[in-house]
Amino acid sequence: MLFVEFARVCEQVAATTKKLEKAALLKAFFAELSDDDLVIAARFFAGTPFPLADQRVLNVGGAVVRDAVLQLTGASHEEWGQLVVTHGEAGRAAQQLLLGRVATSSSLTLSEVMAVYEALEAARGPSKKMPLIATTLERLTPLEAAYLIKLMLGGDLRIGLQEGLVEDALARAWDLPVAAVQRANMLLGDIGETALRARYRRLDDVTMRLFHPLKFMLASPIVDPQEIRKGIAGPFFVEDKYDGIRAQAHKQGDRIVLYSRTLDDVTSRFPELFGPLLNLPGEWVLDGEVLAARDGRILPFKALQPRLGRKEVGAELLASTPVVFVAYDILYQDGEVLLDHPLYMRRVRLEDLVRPYGADQPIDGIVSGTVMPSLQLLVRHVDRIERLFDQARARGNEGLMVKDPDSRYKPGRRGREWLKVKKALGTLDVVVTAAEVGNGARRRFLSDYTFAVRRSADDPELLNIGKAYSGLTDVEVQELTDWFMAHTIRDFGRVKLVEPEIVFEVAFDSVQPSPRHKSGYALRFPRIVRWRKDKLPHEIDTLDTVRQLAETT
Ligand code: AMP
Repeated sequence: MLFVEFARVCEQVAATTKKLEKAALLKAFFAELSDDDLVIAARFFAGTPFPLADQRVLNVGGAVVRDAVLQLTGASHEEWGQLVVTHGEAGRAAQQLLLGRVATSSSLTLSEVMAVYEALEAARGPSKKMPLIATTLERLTPLEAAYLIKLMLGGDLRIGLQEGLVEDALARAWDLPVAAVQRANMLLGDIGETALRARYRRLDDVTMRLFHPLKFMLASPIVDPQEIRKGIAGPFFVEDKYDGIRAQAHKQGDRIVLYSRTLDDVTSRFPELFGPLLNLPGEWVLDGEVLAARDGRILPFKALQPRLGRKEVGAELLASTPVVFVAYDILYQDGEVLLDHPLYMRRVRLEDLVRPYGADQPIDGIVSGTVMPSLQLLVRHVDRIERLFDQARARGNEGLMVKDPDSRYKPGRRGREWLKVKKALGTLDVVVTAAEVGNGARRRFLSDYTFAVRRSADDPELLNIGKAYSGLTDVEVQELTDWFMAHTIRDFGRVKLVEPEIVFEVAFDSVQPSPRHKSGYALRFPRIVRWRKDKLPHEIDTLDTVRQLAETT
């Protein structure tokens, strides 16, 4: 099948807002494909060339794509920047610039395009990747170029097609229950293989694969504890919200792998956890948090940062920031997938497995170099939250998590079964939209940042809400300056509009209505708490949370 046929279907999908019509278009296309092409097309529709659970990543940034397009077209940086702003993405900008300058008829097949992505992944560094992109673009029509780039930059084709809709279309194509398709895709972490199994009606024997990370279940923020009652009628679990690094641990035989929230293998960063994790018997997958702790005290998140920057951890770092793995969920054990078991039952299993303490030891103490269960209470009355929140803070934690004891584990979902309790003076996760030259000692850096929240969970529009410059280290500011220089989409001299990729957690004193920003709100005394390298831009906070914070501050 030619790649251009895929691009044409995408255009038709973009042209309708009706989900049923989108699904029908996909269904008709799927029917035409060979097995190999079906695998590739399903992945492409979901927005990425490689399966989710695959550790391969293209590592292609906007700057490499820009340079390839500019080389072919002779356009200026300025022209490129303007087109990216107009279209809101690089793919369409390239499509417009390449018109008349590249192939007029297409010949590349889906599998040939897939081979290009594989070669790109294998090529190390922008200087190797750029020529590969340029020679491929030359062979494609402008429409195909748009889709080649959309897929390269990853995540979303911007045609109103989420992975959920691809699952839906697969179910319709082969007349299967959509829940079966979702489940297979979740466990396999590969919509391509899921598609093939759907075609051959082989969804039932899919089981959990160790060393293929599952997406993490996420929480919705609440400000007012009364909101707990909107979703949970009875008693609920309250856990400390630990401020560390989310990690999914897999064990089989003598092998341990830890995956980060972005599903990357981060095992080598935490060597002192191998022993304690290997000591837990059987095969299992645990969800939890890696924390730095010394002498029974949890250290601030900043203490963990040096670990993240390195592939190998030296003796000095091991001694200065010992870590602990706090487990709060178990997703699989000895051949049994536990995702559909209610949380209270998973918890029983978890506590049976993770018992580093003698019975007389307090469970809220933290012992470095160990694995321990999260501190958890069953609470009946919402009015206890306030006290518990303060106690969690006093233990060095961020706040509280509230969980529905009956809830299933839903990978990748941010639902109301898990709630994170933010106090009035909480923090927001935001994405940087513009970077500006700083003052004084920082005048050689892009150190003043304008940032935005999302309009809503379904609407990705970014709404600026504030500007901050304090809170980061010089090393971080240097790194960010380099990144923003390479990812500027429009240059106004001192101020640069940048690709909205960098996520910060910001603290502030209050939220107030304000006409100054597009969001209609402004933050008083905003400061950057940390650079959230583990968060993707679509995971930032929404206008709804801002509105709630404004009402209570
Ligand atoms: P946020 O990063 O603000 O979206 O909050 C969700 C994050 O809280 C999760 O990704 C976890 O890393 C973290 N977290 C800390 N403690 C817990 C806990 N007890 N249960 C679940 N998530 C937790």
